[in-house]
Amino acid sequence: MSATIDQPVIEACDLSVGYKNRPVARHLNFSCHAGQFISLLGPNGAGKTTLLRTLSRHLPPQGGGVRVQGRSLESLSAMELARIMAVVLTDKIAPPLFTVFEFVALGRYPHTDYLGRLGTRDRVAVTSSLAAVHALDLANRPFADLSDGERQKVLMARALAQDPRVLLLDEPTIHLDLKHRVEVMAILRDLCRNKGITVIASLHDVDIAAKVSDRVALIRDGGIVAWDTPETALSRQAVTALYDFDKAEFNRHLGGIELRGAGDRGRAFVVGGMGSGALIYRMLTKKGFTIATGVVHENDLDCFVARSLGAECVAVGPMEPIDNAAVDRAKTLLAACDLVVDCGFPVGPVNEANLALMQAALERGATMLSLRDGLPPGLRVNKGDTPVLFTDAGHLIEALETFQFHRPLPVHGEEVQCIP
Ligand code: ADP
Repeated sequence: MSATIDQPVIEACDLSVGYKNRPVARHLNFSCHAGQFISLLGPNGAGKTTLLRTLSRHLPPQGGGVRVQGRSLESLSAMELARIMAVVLTDKIAPPLFTVFEFVALGRYPHTDYLGRLGTRDRVAVTSSLAAVHALDLANRPFADLSDGERQKVLMARALAQDPRVLLLDEPTIHLDLKHRVEVMAILRDLCRNKGITVIASLHDVDIAAKVSDRVALIRDGGIVAWDTPETALSRQAVTALYDFDKAEFNRHLGGIELRGAGDRGRAFVVGGMGSGALIYRMLTKKGFTIATGVVHENDLDCFVARSLGAECVAVGPMEPIDNAAVDRAKTLLAACDLVVDCGFPVGPVNEANLALMQAALERGATMLSLRDGLPPGLRVNKGDTPVLFTDAGHLIEALETFQFHRPLPVHGEEVQCIP
């Protein structure tokens, strides 16, 4: 039977996976369609590899079943399955004494004669598989000499040489550096888009998965807790629950994870907004400060980052002017802080009320660091106040590394000229 357009390429019906006397995940129901990139996400031991091994018939189902292009998985002959599905597992393989071309050619076995002789079509297939993973230049190299990143691409090329409709990969980026990690993900995405291959991959990087996947499966507690688009499935709460985050938070607007800090260094009030605060919030968090900030707008990057970092954040609605009530709330937070950082936000009608916060800090004699080459006009700086100006966020944070409260700052910036 050939697949129709709407027919799932793979369908799990009440599938249970696991090992003898060791169920891992039960009652799984899902379908995978042509050209979809599906990421399996979940903590270690959740059952991602076990599921991939079951889908590829390396393990028998413990219950229920799998249909592949409308036929039950167990009814397919080894050759029929190999023409539909290729698998790249993480097991470190003993490097064979082949060239890369010869190694990739092994993937042609479902298409060659019983002696494994390569015809012209097979050679073309091997060459185009190597081209698809940007590894043509490796063709004559000994497989054993390859780096981890090169080897991963060649393993993918061998799988592609099978000319499969489905590619299953177990942690395809696990041993790779960032460059190869990104490259492998881009290659897989292109295989889905350009060749209509269905990719099912277990991944550790939830942020990369969010960016490339058409569907994500969140696996934990013996089941699939969500199978949906990443935009729907990867809510802050869902990712926190999936990985049992304590000091981290996933933010889908930012498409990444924010790491919270110890918060034991003191309290910093950050006058931010208009995207000026995000970098400073992260730096202060890294250095162990607890953050309060304001007044920002709800749709501002700063608001997303601050909240993901667990900051107390005074915010007003998008496009709304900053009102007195919001400024007063921010002043209350500021009064309880050991340090004030002005992020150098651009000042305009929508946020000029925040200058009152800087003025309040100056009047309190608070330690204030400012990321500008001059304070905005209108602020009154009295003798004895010591706001310190920095033009570079890195220098500001360097100064904080040795900062002791109630002691003069080691200054990388210049002290502001005080009014006599
Ligand atoms: P993941 O890929 O999500 O990290 P796995 O599928 O590798 O998780 O493992 C799921 C569970 O199955 C784990 O508790 C693991 O210890 C167990 N497990 C893995 N391989 C075997 C095996 N060969 N026999 C018995 N249990 C296994």
